[in-house]
Amino acid sequence: MAHYLCHEQPDLLDFDTTVLAARPGAVVLGRSALHPGGGGQVSDAAMLTHAHGAARITGVAAEGGLLWHLLDEPLELSGDVHVAIDATRRATVAQLHTGTHILNALVYQRFAGALVTGAQINADGTARMDFDLPDADNDALRALEEPVNEVIRRAMDVRIYYVSAAEAQSTEGLIRSLSVAPPPTSDGRVRIVEIGDLDRQACGGTHLSNTAQSRQIRIGKIENKGRRNRRVRIELV
Ligand SMILES: [Zn+2]
Repeated sequence: MAHYLCHEQPDLLDFDTTVLAARPGAVVLGRSALHPGGGGQVSDAAMLTHAHGAARITGVAAEGGLLWHLLDEPLELSGDVHVAIDATRRATVAQLHTGTHILNALVYQRFAGALVTGAQINADGTARMDFDLPDADNDALRALEEPVNEVIRRAMDVRIYYVSAAEAQSTEGLIRSLSVAPPPTSDGRVRIVEIGDLDRQACGGTHLSNTAQSRQIRIGKIENKGRRNRRVRIELV
């Protein structure tokens, strides 16, 4: 996990910058407040205004240490640009990401430390989580919908802080995922997302600052994926 501007300034949704490198349909920017995605979360999208018009940034691709911002047209841009992040998409993804942590916390508590084996958080208001739960009753998983929404209604603060990689490894429950745990930053720190007294875990994603900012969540279909995995689908309602 790199240091992202969106981690330091989560409210920065509009910014001026310059094009550092370009190829048809993609640019590297001097600075960027877009979340590039990762850990199952889709990237931000944005409108980019340039000297001759505007284009939409539809996603971000990390290549060779550079973040290429992908455009919806094969333009080869240069010079100064203005970027306005799609705030609705950011808010949707943040609601779902905080929601997946709430669900994860309840599964972890009620199903004896079950770990996450995969997650996908989409811009369309849906997400899925896979848990290592070989013996779980799917109806008991679905019954977590009401406790998840109760946490949302309780208006719990979501706090972000950093710990050393050693502390993250040695604190039980902080690394909750078998596949999507973020690597430490370049200075060896790990970003922690804490939801009140309910949950804290390593994560590089975008989150709400209070659970009450979320819409209610519906738990949809639960599928068995192989012998051990349960796939839980959620959506904002
Ligand atoms: Zn997360």
